Amino acid sequence: SAPAIFSANTLVVEGRPHMSNLFYQTKAPRPTLARAEGIYMWDTSGKRYIDGSSGAMVSNIGHSNPAVLAAMRAQMDKSTFGYRLHFQTDASEALADKVASLTPKGLDRVFFVSGGSEAVESTLKLARQYALTQGQAQRTKVISRYPSYHGSTLGALAITGYAPMTAPFDPMMHAMPKIPAPRAYLDGLDPTDTATGLHYANMLEAKILEEGPATILAFIVEPIGGASTGALVPPAGYMQRIRQICDQYGVLLIHDEVMTGGGRTGRFFGADHWDVTPDIIALSKGFGAGYVPLGAMIARNDIVEAVMNGDGFIHGYTYAGNPLACAAGLAVLNEIEQHSLTENAAQMGDALKTRLEAIMQRYPVIGDVRGKGLLLAFELMADRATKEPLPAAFNAHSRLVDIAYDNGLIIYSRRTRGGIAGDHFLVCPPMIVTEPQLDEITDILDQSMQQLMAEMPH
Ligand code: PLP
Repeated sequence: SAPAIFSANTLVVEGRPHMSNLFYQTKAPRPTLARAEGIYMWDTSGKRYIDGSSGAMVSNIGHSNPAVLAAMRAQMDKSTFGYRLHFQTDASEALADKVASLTPKGLDRVFFVSGGSEAVESTLKLARQYALTQGQAQRTKVISRYPSYHGSTLGALAITGYAPMTAPFDPMMHAMPKIPAPRAYLDGLDPTDTATGLHYANMLEAKILEEGPATILAFIVEPIGGASTGALVPPAGYMQRIRQICDQYGVLLIHDEVMTGGGRTGRFFGADHWDVTPDIIALSKGFGAGYVPLGAMIARNDIVEAVMNGDGFIHGYTYAGNPLACAAGLAVLNEIEQHSLTENAAQMGDALKTRLEAIMQRYPVIGDVRGKGLLLAFELMADRATKEPLPAAFNAHSRLVDIAYDNGLIIYSRRTRGGIAGDHFLVCPPMIVTEPQLDEITDILDQSMQQLMAEMPH
């Protein structure tokens, strides 16, 4: 039999030689999940955890939602798969109708996929095929931001600005131009001043001019940064100016709403906060909400029509649009609507942000609290004034996560290199969270911060 493995938390888990968890951040095995309900999860020893990050900002409506499970069971009794060349299904048609009712006007065409990377890949290929229909074969470059995260497949990785994940593969990819994300808090600029928004947005124009406008296919942006930046909210005027620049140079604007879509930021799409309409949207995570692998690309009607009137979209995934995933997705969207979960995310987000700001008052090492709705983060730094990061060797990003985990709270962290200060932590509970549960979360966080401070080198 396989030897027992000891995790960083000194939890003994049974050796599982045939199940490889190779992800680079998963050096130590975690306990085995027994069950989950609402915002809580239990391991097989009976220990309870609060899912304070909704997994990776996925389980937006909480775990084991009875309506979603019932919808899945009902669909399973009818069919679980119908290949797209052979059948259309009521489940996928119903979900496409529902999604189109939530998207900005003129973006009514929905293409299903099974995850965020697939959604982003699809946006890039649709943009390229559209440019070809417009006689613009030289448009091949997609500008993105640094830092950013758009997915782990090679196309999505080429536009990802996060060296720890891209470096080994750089020689295999087509190098894509990047501009800095608008890190006003680090540069000491006022994010509420539109001059700040223009300052960062105009970097896009400069990059387009530097590369040659006729070569630029698209610009892709997370409306509110996700894991890469730790809930970085764009400064005033930024998103609007980006839209203007894209229009001026005939560059398609792609919103990666994989993390922000689905209500988490307090509006259904993150971009709704700025009344900006992109040309193409990528959606996933909270769309399937952890019940099924599900994602979508949503695109401007005329873009889809141009491509369909030409060669058709030369792209697709076998499992895409399968009826089980679509039935679950529709039930998720119905739950969000019927229980006003987007509105709850806005309200509980404000309440949680206030609590995080109160914790910040107690710990000078917390240098920033940011985000919108329930996409919230705080960042640790050695010095609030100089924004100097904590020493990398201290590994605050993994240490605080481990302490909180031991205390029964799951949060999500990254140490970002290359332009953003340091260790940030996403606190993003499911959108069903209540005020008493917010107190539970922040009490454990406060206690975990105390423990971290006791370990901090002086
Ligand atoms: N885009 C964004 C903004 C993301 O946050 C993620 C995942 O974290 C992805 C794309 C990739 O999604 P997936 O992991 O489902 O492939």
